[in-house]
Amino acid sequence: MTQPQAGDETAEGFVAASSIDDVRRLVRQARAQSRRIGCVPTMGALHAGHVSLFEVCRRHADFIVATIFVNPTQFGPQEDFQRYPRPLADDLRAAQAAGVDLVFTPDAETIYPEGFDTFVEVGGLSSVLEGEIRPGHFRGVATVVLKLFQIVQPDVAVFGAKDYQQQAVLRQMTRDLNLPVEIVTALTIREPDGLAMSSRNAYLSPKERKSALVLSESLALAAARLANGDFDLGAIATAMREHLASGAGVQPEYALIVDPDTLEPLSAPQPRMTALVAARLGTTRLIDNREIVLDEPS
Ligand code: AMP
Repeated sequence: MTQPQAGDETAEGFVAASSIDDVRRLVRQARAQSRRIGCVPTMGALHAGHVSLFEVCRRHADFIVATIFVNPTQFGPQEDFQRYPRPLADDLRAAQAAGVDLVFTPDAETIYPEGFDTFVEVGGLSSVLEGEIRPGHFRGVATVVLKLFQIVQPDVAVFGAKDYQQQAVLRQMTRDLNLPVEIVTALTIREPDGLAMSSRNAYLSPKERKSALVLSESLALAAARLANGDFDLGAIATAMREHLASGAGVQPEYALIVDPDTLEPLSAPQPRMTALVAARLGTTRLIDNREIVLDEPS
């Protein structure tokens, strides 16, 4: 098989394009065929989590646009922008194999040309949790996603529950700015041992990879305690944090049980809750979360 390169159109109709004009033209063609346009924004280094988003997108749309762009404005000055993996040829193969129709691979100058100076600020949801630890992160995310929506003009866009706060922020932006896009959140895909898949898992040493299990384990611990009728959310959060800290080389950042929509920490249980954790392992930051639904009393 010949390796698809940006700009090539293959026999199966798979296209990779790096210019906004090409993307607009191809999307216009698809829309003229009455196809519903779906968009899956990514930063590449595609794994099974991304592939599951393409599959979910295919259930909601019939022309799938994946975007691959390591967005500089969502990285802090001390973060991993430079070392973030960029295996473009592998990603194009994976996207094609997953049935993506069009991959948009812009460079930084295409998205942020000289003089670019407009940003999207989503209010309170952007300033807590990840937003507190990574100032400006969601400003960068919201700005690039709005730009990608303007370029692709999708009917539906799919984001992963893995980045729980991100999908909450993007839902708020979509609502507040009346964007004509349906936001779909897809389930987190995990390694067989429970670790949430992430492009950043590649940074982990074998020892850190073992320790990283404490993230999903602390979420399971919270779910198990709540399922057993233990409703002391403060004590559960403390136990989650202690479990994170029990991993060799793990520095917990937060462990909380929050409202799924407002992300406010809860002091009393409610039917739907989200447990969130973040921790540092050496130079790598990992996040994970789990939705917890309490059984209706019978
Ligand atoms: P990223 O390339 O890390 O920016 O992620 C692109 C999209 O894939 C985001 O909507 C993420 O939430 C989603 N994603 C990342 N990891 C997973 C996973 N393990 N399961 C499901 N979706 C994921």
